[in-house]
Amino acid sequence: MIIILLGPPGAGKGTIAVEIKKKIDIPVISTGDILRNAIQDGTKLGQEAQDFVNSGKLVPDFLIMKIIENRIIQQDCNHGFIFDGFPRTIHQAQEFDSISHQLKKKIDQVFYFEASHEVIIERLSSRRVCSQCGMIYNLNYNPPRIQGKCDQCGGALIQRDDDQVDTIEKRLKVYQNDTLPLVHYYQGKKLLTTINADQDVQDRFKEVWEKLTELNLVGEN
Ligand code: ADP
Ligand code: ZN
Repeated sequence: MIIILLGPPGAGKGTIAVEIKKKIDIPVISTGDILRNAIQDGTKLGQEAQDFVNSGKLVPDFLIMKIIENRIIQQDCNHGFIFDGFPRTIHQAQEFDSISHQLKKKIDQVFYFEASHEVIIERLSSRRVCSQCGMIYNLNYNPPRIQGKCDQCGGALIQRDDDQVDTIEKRLKVYQNDTLPLVHYYQGKKLLTTINADQDVQDRFKEVWEKLTELNLVGEN
């Protein structure tokens, strides 16, 4: 099964990906996480991507496609995967169409998380992530039990460089120009389901799960 989560930064794609994964055991492939790890580890990919990520620009398509090609041939992807943050340009989507065609796999559904500008800004500026395990918190809706510390592993919570207000605005512009056209692209392929991303996690997940059930991609439960 191949599921794509599409939507602006702050729409809560990462959180929903985790919820889906709890129920269906297929990996979540987050290009953002892969890039941040590479930057932290100082790998060649990290060095090449660093300036783009930290300034809120898109990393060039050829680098992203290299990441994707290497990742989806790993064994844990045999039964499918969930993309969080990929594709982000029409070119990436087209390239993935040809890769999946070659691998004789197909995209099952694209969930488009539509969120209002105010909600996005509010969510991103209050987002904190665990520097150790990557768990996502929100100071308003989902704060850690102890301030500044991860509930799961005790790691320090940090604000991503690209979650500063100036960079958020820049990322939203990039999203509108480069990524939003994908809504139309997947609508044309009859693969798109729109989810109201202003709702809380439970309601967003409920809509996603209902659609997956309706498509017979998952059993009732
Ligand atoms: P968000 O969805 O909150 O913007 P991500 O973690 O998905 O955050 O992405 C963070 C950054 O990583 C992006 O701003 C961009 O620089 C880079 N990035 C992630 N995925 C892609 C992609 N598919 N194409 C190009 N750049 C990407
Ligand atoms: Zn943690």
